[in-house]
Amino acid sequence: MVVIIGGGISGLSLAYYLRKQGVPFKLIEKSKQTGGYIRSIRQKEYLFEEGPNSLLVDAEVQSLLDELQLSSEIVEAHAVSKKRYILRQGEYRALPASPLSLLANGFFSWKAKLDIFRELSRPAAPQTGESVAAFFERRFGKEVVDYAVTPFVSGIYAGDPYRLRIDKVFPQMVEYEQNYGSVLKGFIKNKGGARRRSLSFRNGMQTLPERLTQVIKEDLLLGVSVKRIEKQEGAWVVYLDQGEPIRASQIVLSVGAHEAAQLLPAQYEAAKEAWQQVYYPPLAVVHSVYYKPQFKQKPEGFGALHPAVENSFSLGSIWSSSIFPERCKDNEVLITTFVGGALQANKVQYDDRRIMHEINLELKQLLHIQGVPVLQRISRWEKAIPQYHDYMDAVEAHAKQLQAEGIHVHANWIGGVSMPDCIKKGKRLAEALAQKIKVS
Ligand SMILES: Cc1cc2nc3c(=O)[nH]c(=O)nc-3n(C[C@H](O)[C@H](O)[C@H](O)COP(=O)(O)OP(=O)(O)OC[C@H]3O[C@@H](n4cnc5c(N)ncnc54)[C@H](O)[C@@H]3O)c2cc1C
Repeated sequence: MVVIIGGGISGLSLAYYLRKQGVPFKLIEKSKQTGGYIRSIRQKEYLFEEGPNSLLVDAEVQSLLDELQLSSEIVEAHAVSKKRYILRQGEYRALPASPLSLLANGFFSWKAKLDIFRELSRPAAPQTGESVAAFFERRFGKEVVDYAVTPFVSGIYAGDPYRLRIDKVFPQMVEYEQNYGSVLKGFIKNKGGARRRSLSFRNGMQTLPERLTQVIKEDLLLGVSVKRIEKQEGAWVVYLDQGEPIRASQIVLSVGAHEAAQLLPAQYEAAKEAWQQVYYPPLAVVHSVYYKPQFKQKPEGFGALHPAVENSFSLGSIWSSSIFPERCKDNEVLITTFVGGALQANKVQYDDRRIMHEINLELKQLLHIQGVPVLQRISRWEKAIPQYHDYMDAVEAHAKQLQAEGIHVHANWIGGVSMPDCIKKGKRLAEALAQKIKVS
């Protein structure tokens, strides 16, 4: 028996693939609903995503959606969302669509363009656990770090590129440098990387965990919290806040790093300490609805990111109704703005009124909006996205050691934070566990 603790996308996708493999399991989720960070709020004609806004789909994720018969629920991102903007000298400027068009587009200075061109022949260096910023500065120069890398990293991790490790967050970039001698050459050889499309669902992102939950519901304990785990006579015993303890040969921790550290028995002190170090910066997510006539020109594109050097209030916004028009009324515009993250964590302490006021001023100035939003709501994540800093070597090493004891980490704090990462890791772990259980 496998016990999975935590019913976010990681735990659910593992449960789904274990079911396919015919491996017996129980999934335990402490909340009254599954999905973890995936939270879609339906409010009259509006759909507000408090967590992930969209899912990037490649062939592997598509086959999961097909198996779950979700095709009629899918809403494709509007073509206009291929356009992305970056704040530069107080104005939104279109970001070049591909790494190669960086040279042709007027976004970067001539010096930066020369640095980008020189990347093709700059010698590769051995990987020594560099930060994302150090890696890109070495290969492309500071302007690329300030105006492309920092905002991109804040768009995915709400993170600090000077602390995030390149080999943990963008391993493909390291691979390109090592295998082709240049990141750009790697992009050219791999034709810009795997093709992926961005989508959501008619009733929001929560559709995916809900459908997975339907499939595995007989083996789900909902609203039940795991209190501790203990090894007794060679098997694991999982103690719950209600009901009988469950015996298991394999335990999967699909909870946050700090919860995982608390659940580990005292004898794994070093692992507990390492996992407690994982930093989750706070994040506020603000949804603002405007009438279309409030804009001189309504925003069209995926959204805009704000480089730290621009000293703006927010990290940037997703122009939600431009990507998914059905998320608000026809005559309205919905914008989702992010505040805080690793570089501006203190701002999440501000009260709701102050955050909304600052955002209104910023959006008004940048998007030339008349007046204030007709509707606005804020949600906060005290611990948002786990940051892959230097401690990750120890975090991963302890997780690896524990596998031999029958404890597995399968969550967004190791091996990738995105939903597709969590799904793919779930599939691989299910295959490995099926193999292990067959052999024993
Ligand atoms: C604001 C925001 C925006 C994002 N945007 C995107 C995006 O657009 N695209 C994308 O791909 N990714 C995005 N992500 C990342 C992605 O959503 C998360 O990394 C992913 O959903 C994490 O899933 P998980 O299952 O690993 O963890 P979680 O979702 O944290 O699930 C863990 C679960 O464990 C449960 N639990 C905890 N302790 C116990 C216990 N003792 N007993 C039982 N259950 C327990 C919790 O209740 C929770 O349900 C975003 C994240 C955030 C915060």
